[in-house]
Amino acid sequence: MTNQFPTQARVVIVGGGIIGCSVAYHLTKLGWTDVVLLEQGQLSGGTTWHAAGLVGQLRSHSNMTSLIKYSTQLYGELEAETGLATGWKNCGSLSVARTADRMTVLKRTAASARAQGVDIDVISPKEAADLWPVMATDDLVGAVWLPGDGKANPTDLTQSLAKGARNGGAKIIERVRVTGISQRNGVACGVETDRGNIAAEIVVNCAGQWARKVGLMCGVSVPLHSAEHMYIVTGRIEGVHPDLPVMRDPDGFIYFKEEVGGLVMGGFEPHAKPWGMNGIPENFEFALLPDDWDQFEILMENALVRVPQLAEAEVKKFYNGPESFTPDNNFLLGEAPELKNFYVGAGFNSMGIASAGGAGRALAEWIVNAAPTMDLWPVDIRRFAPFNNNPRWLHDRVKETLGLHYAMPWPNRELDTARPFRRSPLYDRLAARGACFGSKMG
Ligand SMILES: Cc1cc2nc3c(=O)[nH]c(=O)nc-3n(C[C@H](O)[C@H](O)[C@H](O)COP(=O)(O)OP(=O)(O)OC[C@H]3O[C@@H](n4cnc5c(N)ncnc54)[C@H](O)[C@@H]3O)c2cc1C
Repeated sequence: MTNQFPTQARVVIVGGGIIGCSVAYHLTKLGWTDVVLLEQGQLSGGTTWHAAGLVGQLRSHSNMTSLIKYSTQLYGELEAETGLATGWKNCGSLSVARTADRMTVLKRTAASARAQGVDIDVISPKEAADLWPVMATDDLVGAVWLPGDGKANPTDLTQSLAKGARNGGAKIIERVRVTGISQRNGVACGVETDRGNIAAEIVVNCAGQWARKVGLMCGVSVPLHSAEHMYIVTGRIEGVHPDLPVMRDPDGFIYFKEEVGGLVMGGFEPHAKPWGMNGIPENFEFALLPDDWDQFEILMENALVRVPQLAEAEVKKFYNGPESFTPDNNFLLGEAPELKNFYVGAGFNSMGIASAGGAGRALAEWIVNAAPTMDLWPVDIRRFAPFNNNPRWLHDRVKETLGLHYAMPWPNRELDTARPFRRSPLYDRLAARGACFGSKMG
């Protein structure tokens, strides 16, 4: 093998987080072996390394559920293929409901997940308590149980995908920064880097929270904005064991998983804290943000309701890391409408570990077939317009997006932030008469 820096490749992938590595892995599986992946730091050192590693299949769009169903299969098999552990544990997961309305939502998503072949049971609070004895259940209406869900170690999983990609012929090169995208007549044709140029037929932007900036290098809108995202890790808690399922309590905005006999507890607060307004530092590698207990308070209060033992538990570590969020809480996938042969896989709204297997395969198939192989409209990058890439608009919107994870998905729900944006000439008169407004394309 030569260490010479390549000057051409069929596909160049920008970014060595879990998404870029999964795209490289799946391209080689489809027989496209002339793939180069460039990472400005070390693999997984962006956002991937500090993820909690929950892999849950229950999603509001059935095709997103089916992508994650594939992820669970892949994560269960990858170690045997590559010889590198992934930390995958098929511990199952529970989602509990505090209200009758929430239970209706859980039953509806359960029906839709079943249609995708996902194993799921609707269970009583008593059955939930048997599966998760550490929690208080007196205020619960019911729960759903997904035996196929699990958790993984995000860094190990990324390394395992990278090894699989290398075994398939891909070249993965760390400490190379992409500084420009070459294009000719509206078609991407390579990248410029701090180590030289590489000509390519296809360029894939998997640059995580830097993906908006990489898009701007070639006039492509990648509407995402970072927000702070937090969880704590506790010391040992009695009754918490390695096989304890993942547990989500969406009415309390929180989730739990076992780690070394203690609990990881994090969540999605309704009013999030955007980050990186002056640009994302290039050298933000294996880095965290300062603890913010004020922002975390609403999650902590709810966690104490669900797991009263937390009041006595030692908090061993506070993780606060930035993650990229999009205007509608769905990720960005596919060929950019502004530039042919330039693909994007970014903006994973804190579900990048769960989605990486399925999204990586879907994007690789999209590249190889020059068209998506399933209905991916909820995540298709073409659903957004240039105004969605406005940084002030994005900043205001992601305050709400992060909290959408566990918000009640009421029918006809309208988002409240970053509006009014565009108004009809009659707006003031309609408002004066008490009109109720919806929003389409701003
Ligand atoms: C606190 C926290 C908890 C989370 N928990 C979960 C969870 O339980 N389950 C789950 O599914 N998800 C979770 N997530 C979300 C998950 O971590 C992300 O969605 C996922 O890691 C995104 O992966 P990525 O590959 O898109 O981005 P990254 O991992 O950031 O990878 C992008 C890479 O691109 C590189 N790059 C950028 N610009 C350039 C350039 N110009 N040239 C070369 N390389 C470049 C970066 O260095 C970086 O390594 C969590 C996130 C946070 C912050």
